[in-house]
Amino acid sequence: MSKECPFAVRLTFHGDLVLFLRGKRGTADRRLNERTSVKDILEACGVPHTEVDLVLVDGEPVDFGWVIAAEATIDIFPIDPKPVTFFPENCLQVRGIRKFVADGHLGKLVRDLRLLGIDVLYDRNAEDRQLVKTSSAQDRALLTRDRRLLMHAAVRHGYYLRSQNSLEQTVEVLRRFDLGSVLTPFSRCLLCNALLEAAEKEKIIGQLEPLTKIYYDQFRRCPGCGQVYWSGSHFEKLQKRIGAIRDRLQTEA
Ligand SMILES: [Zn+2]
Repeated sequence: MSKECPFAVRLTFHGDLVLFLRGKRGTADRRLNERTSVKDILEACGVPHTEVDLVLVDGEPVDFGWVIAAEATIDIFPIDPKPVTFFPENCLQVRGIRKFVADGHLGKLVRDLRLLGIDVLYDRNAEDRQLVKTSSAQDRALLTRDRRLLMHAAVRHGYYLRSQNSLEQTVEVLRRFDLGSVLTPFSRCLLCNALLEAAEKEKIIGQLEPLTKIYYDQFRRCPGCGQVYWSGSHFEKLQKRIGAIRDRLQTEA
């Protein structure tokens, strides 16, 4: 730490990034005793880098590794699902992420997303380091309500769920990753995430209840765990759930 070093930076957090700050104000003044990267400054304020799409230092775009070594004014912007109109080439987040890994508290969200055909890995006993590793090794966005997890340098893509309600969380993920137009309901196993395959009735008849054998002819089977799916009474319930998600997605945020 050099003696001539202490200097002040003023940070302005835009949009809903304010929710990560201790106070309700979007502006924070910090005194730094040494050269510090943008990522470290943001995260010292409580904001995970995965939530930030644009950083301007004295009006110029920089990346997370940029080192602040003197007095500066820093503007920090969240991800806007709408096309970016200023500094589009300096966005820090990758668009078009279609694969996810969810932390162990998000079973209901995972079920919703799989129901809509979205690829989400989930192990309710997964430890933090496994989640970070899977996210990084497979380029999956990490979904969590634990902001510390998102601060790992190895986590390149992720999202902090604002709501605690699973339907709202599902809609948040669809909006944040712009998934509304790529949904393929009933294409994925709700239990293990594998893509379902059409199954001939004769081949799975041993797994069916007597009435199901009589009333249904079309079946799909999971090649991962063997679960058989058909449009029985549970199907209507799932369709209602999809309807509720789509309705909520179409209303204003
Ligand atoms: Zn399965």
